[in-house]
Amino acid sequence: MNTNTPLTLHPIATFETNYAWAIHDGRHCVLVDPGSAAEPLAYLDRESLTLKAILLTHHHHDHIGGVDEILARHPVPVIGPADPRISQLTRRVSEGDTVRFDQPALELAVLETPGHTSSHIVFHNDQMLLAGDTLFSVGCGRLFEGSPEQMQASLDKLRALPDSTRLYCAHEYTLDNCRFALQVEPDNAALQQRAEQVRQQRQAGQITLPTRLGEERATNPFLRTREPAVIAAAQQREPGTDNNPAAVFGVIRRWKDG
Ligand code: ZN
Ligand code: FE
Repeated sequence: MNTNTPLTLHPIATFETNYAWAIHDGRHCVLVDPGSAAEPLAYLDRESLTLKAILLTHHHHDHIGGVDEILARHPVPVIGPADPRISQLTRRVSEGDTVRFDQPALELAVLETPGHTSSHIVFHNDQMLLAGDTLFSVGCGRLFEGSPEQMQASLDKLRALPDSTRLYCAHEYTLDNCRFALQVEPDNAALQQRAEQVRQQRQAGQITLPTRLGEERATNPFLRTREPAVIAAAQQREPGTDNNPAAVFGVIRRWKDG
């Protein structure tokens, strides 16, 4: 495997807030979560990239909606979680599995992260975390099919990854997420800094991703459910809340949803 070729991770904007990620070496490309087909196909054409595979994190339409049309042009393997709601899979992967490509030179491990959906998975290595809708910058996915306990356990897996891991999530929600996070932790200096950076990035029309996991651990309330300030905010919001991480997570998630 040629590990000398630097990989590019390029965000392809689809719909209002989605990013499909193109991982490529300048010639060969793997696509992650193409919710629509037109923009990824145009990108592949423009950059003269050969598509090698499609990776999917979960079954939601804004992540898989482009797969059929892309396959019609580029019949490649489709790798994702074992879920009957994703009909196009050629390989079903679960926790502990590794996904390996020679071109582009890329190896990713799979983690199961139920919570947003019951079968959500993420792909990661030392450099990158392709988090789908489990972890956003300064936020996390809504609990459509899971309990706070499940999502807390899923986020704990991601929290354990190295500080330098870059987070590539599937939505541009960071500005809203910062506004909410500042309600939970108004005195968090790292968060104040991040919020200002994000405000400037969005004002300039720039993407707020990737971030590093170390920065997320310092600013993302959903990764900070063991922090005294976050526990206190949860207990003020819902008096009587237990100080265990899942209970605190549940309060913060409901607060954000409301
Ligand atoms: Zn989703
Ligand atoms: Fe989504």
